Amino acid sequence: MKLFDAHCHLQDPRILSKAPTLIKTAQDSGVVRFAVNGIHEQDWHLVKDMAQAYPSVIPSFGLHPWYVAERSPNWFKTLREYLDSTPSAAVGEIGLDKGSHGRNIDFSEQVDVLQQQLELAKGLHKPASIHCVRAFGDLLELMKSVGPFPAGVILHSFLGSAEMVPEFSKLGAYFSFSGFLMSLKANKAKKMLKMVPSDRILLETDAPDALPTSNLDSLFFVEGDTSLAQELHGQRTTSSSTSASSPSNSSRVVTGASKLSKETLNHPANIHSVLDYVASMLEITKEELAELSYQNAVHLFSYEGSKVHQQ
Ligand SMILES: [Zn+2]
Repeated sequence: MKLFDAHCHLQDPRILSKAPTLIKTAQDSGVVRFAVNGIHEQDWHLVKDMAQAYPSVIPSFGLHPWYVAERSPNWFKTLREYLDSTPSAAVGEIGLDKGSHGRNIDFSEQVDVLQQQLELAKGLHKPASIHCVRAFGDLLELMKSVGPFPAGVILHSFLGSAEMVPEFSKLGAYFSFSGFLMSLKANKAKKMLKMVPSDRILLETDAPDALPTSNLDSLFFVEGDTSLAQELHGQRTTSSSTSASSPSNSSRVVTGASKLSKETLNHPANIHSVLDYVASMLEITKEELAELSYQNAVHLFSYEGSKVHQQ
């Protein structure tokens, strides 16, 4: 069984030193691709380095709505340069957020920044990975004015309503599911999943976030590295220096929910848990969903210059 993690953040400073072993463990479990999304100007070089070091890593560059206030005056020029010099890259993570974190960030700035990045993705014929929290109406409106998106957009960790699926779908959206789906009521999740066209379903981990909350006994957990987060701040790191971590503490299977702490982070191999959950909601086999979501991701990520080629 081959799986494609359509959205994750293996460059996150909390797990960067462990990335080599996380990738290895996930690959051994059947994950053959990782779409690794940058979130602000300071981590784009980490994503680029990681994509150079690992054929399985597909880079994406974008300015996430949580970081729009800290953007430099040159952010858009820098983003363009990253995309121009990295033909294998897609756009992301970008988006809108009116949730508990996002509502502190000026919304009209969020919209401006998203609009520029959506236009850029569309002009470059690349897919864009979109974060949307409590702002689906605004997102739809903006996507209608900029779209449609023949190269596709990924509504990542999608938790929108069943009713909105056809409208987004018409504009070129793919719907990507992570462990966050398990926070929705099962009947609501089921209703929404059944609206998603079978050629638009993707699976992701959003690791190190979105730790699944089902099948705890078979999950992989990662302990976050807070010292590294400080060390990396403002400092350029190459992927070769990330292999210094000890494999022994990089990932482990913990039995029982009692050992979960707040610092417990998600592992890209946990895409299997998302697969199991979504397959059970859709009442299809894991094998069918694995094949379907893999082919959808391959199709979406087969843009010009990509590492992925349609079979
Ligand atoms: Zn993300």
